[in-house]
Amino acid sequence: MTVLTGLLLIMGFVLIQKAVRRKDRKKYAITQTVIEKNRLNEYMMEKVVLSTEAGKDIRIFHQEKLMEEYGDNMTSGWRNAAKQLAGNGAKWDGIQGFLSACIGGIVYLYIAICAYVGEIAAGSVVRYAGAIQQLIQALTDLMSAWTRLHRNRAVMEEYLAYLDLKDVKKKGTIPVEKRRDGKFLIEFRNVSFRYPGTEKYVLKGMNVTLEIGERMALVGPNGSGKTTFIKLLCRLYDPTEGSILLNGVDIRKYDYQEYMQLFSVVFQDFQIFPFALGEYVAGSGQVERERAMDAIRRGGLEELLGKMPEGLNTMLNRDFSDQGVEISGGEAQKLAMARAIYKNAPFVILDEPTAALDPVAENEIYTRFHEIIGSKTALFISHRLSACRFSKEILVFENGNIIERGSHEELSEKPGLYRQMWQAQARYYQ
Ligand code: ADP
Repeated sequence: MTVLTGLLLIMGFVLIQKAVRRKDRKKYAITQTVIEKNRLNEYMMEKVVLSTEAGKDIRIFHQEKLMEEYGDNMTSGWRNAAKQLAGNGAKWDGIQGFLSACIGGIVYLYIAICAYVGEIAAGSVVRYAGAIQQLIQALTDLMSAWTRLHRNRAVMEEYLAYLDLKDVKKKGTIPVEKRRDGKFLIEFRNVSFRYPGTEKYVLKGMNVTLEIGERMALVGPNGSGKTTFIKLLCRLYDPTEGSILLNGVDIRKYDYQEYMQLFSVVFQDFQIFPFALGEYVAGSGQVERERAMDAIRRGGLEELLGKMPEGLNTMLNRDFSDQGVEISGGEAQKLAMARAIYKNAPFVILDEPTAALDPVAENEIYTRFHEIIGSKTALFISHRLSACRFSKEILVFENGNIIERGSHEELSEKPGLYRQMWQAQARYYQ
């Protein structure tokens, strides 16, 4: 009988463990279904609902209803998941409780029979029952802990796999040659590129050698690959195929940090952070005041600085300070330019540098271009071809490749995309 009771108890424990595991597995599967909704919710709250900038669009285009629909969709997802979780918990907790009660019953029955046949004294029944009950409770807790350990391992595995991700960016060791004359030879050798996770080639088999020492302009239709070309040059991405060489050396072989020091870039989608003006321009908490003032002046922001209540210490926007100053789109663009000037890198790259500026400010930027960038090498993307006229060389992009190159005079005289674009724009000024 002792053996039979032992077997029944072991079976009971195995079943309880199975029940606990099933419950946990199901719970994990249910929570996985709301991950996507959680992400969407976080995004909506952070970037849309609580964002001051989005407020204009939401109100003007009556997007409140759309936001509500998204909100309903998210909360209904959670409600379903919560219902399923509650159902799952109740079902398996019930089964577990039932099995525990059965085990308890078997134990009491066994002790009662032992007492009945005189194997133990009747007075010891309660003592034995209590001890065995405690043992059962301890074993059940042990099994729960074991199951939790298993479940956490599944979660930890994802986390550890994330931490183990290899940095695929090759980081070389060669120091970058410091040239006083600012002349660089850049070669794109059979470069093709598609963005990670996409199939479409944005640059296709590009072979081009550029001797950069002065100003160079990149023009071409939207989506033709100009910004991508710049991103590859700055090593924000590596080519999918082919290689890029700087002064004859594959750029992946240069020390990454040193290579990044070569570039000051103002991208179209530059960000203004809620830092103090000086910190933003310096990109650091240690601000060289004279250098920052000079960059701000050359960026054309002297007037704005005059209006800043705390000078370089004025916070940009009012997110963190009531004394902060909200700046206009044009001022933001000049500020991004000032930051690029402060960095004092040998390459200055400007992607649509005057898109947000009024015509007077734009004209001022181009006429003071030399003062702004000094003797540095400048590469800029612009749709205003009148601004490209002053570049030594113009590269014309189409469908992920450079189809024409030359000076404004050369390109505007021969039939081709540049002349077409030039004539289309010039029409409005005649
Ligand atoms: P351009 O500067 O000439 O307007 P881009 O280099 O910005 O062109 O874009 C070229 C193509 O690459 C476009 O079709 C664009 O949709 C695509 N693209 C740009 N950035 C990304 C990205 N981060 N992920 C996927 N595709 C992108």
